[in-house]
Amino acid sequence: MDYSIARRRMVEQQIIAREVEDPRVIDAMLQVPRHLFVESGLQSHAYSDASLPIGEKQTISQPYMVAAMTAALELRGGERILEIGTGSGYQTAILSLLVKRVYSIERIPLLAGRARKVLDQLCLSNVNIKVADGTIGWQDQAPFDGILVAAGAPDIPNEYLAQLETGGRLVLPVGDRHQQILMRVTRLEDGSLKREQLMGCRFVPLIGEQAWKADFPG
Ligand code: SAM
Repeated sequence: MDYSIARRRMVEQQIIAREVEDPRVIDAMLQVPRHLFVESGLQSHAYSDASLPIGEKQTISQPYMVAAMTAALELRGGERILEIGTGSGYQTAILSLLVKRVYSIERIPLLAGRARKVLDQLCLSNVNIKVADGTIGWQDQAPFDGILVAAGAPDIPNEYLAQLETGGRLVLPVGDRHQQILMRVTRLEDGSLKREQLMGCRFVPLIGEQAWKADFPG
């Protein structure tokens, strides 16, 4: 299978056609070999318009959602970004091409380890990954120019707002365990917060001290 053709088709049909216009985001989506972030048996589906299982009951996000969330951060280059939910590392790789440094937190050690390996294989060296509860952010490294949360939260954890730089944007799904609204919160120059609802979405739950409990059924 020619993955570069599949990748170009993915970008044209799933990203550009749905009006993600940021040329830097489009370029990053064209560059990152998504098939390396999924299990070998699923590689032929890596460029399909869907999220896919990555083990541990978790998923690699749908390509469109990765592009839309990245575009919503309105990155210009030079930013320090906090990502919660490394998962496969695919979103991390996209961000790493667009910013100065990515700080990514994953609660499941196996996934963090696998993501690290693929990112190293691709020589993406501007990424720090930590295994921890990401609902309390990464206090030692705050504040961040952008925060991207790739799991659904019941509410916006206070620490994310506390760790957001002036002018910075927080993008996260907020809702119940099964469906959410993708929200963007911007810290304006006067310190106030602007909240926007971007679209409906479905993410696995954000599990931790400031979100859902791990033993919740379903
Ligand atoms: N964007 C990722 C990708 O493209 O592969 C997919 C992320 S997956 C939808 C959500 C991830 O969030 C899972 O790997 C899950 O283990 C992780 N997660 C859930 N709660 C977390 C928490 N409190 N801290 C860190 N990671 C968490």
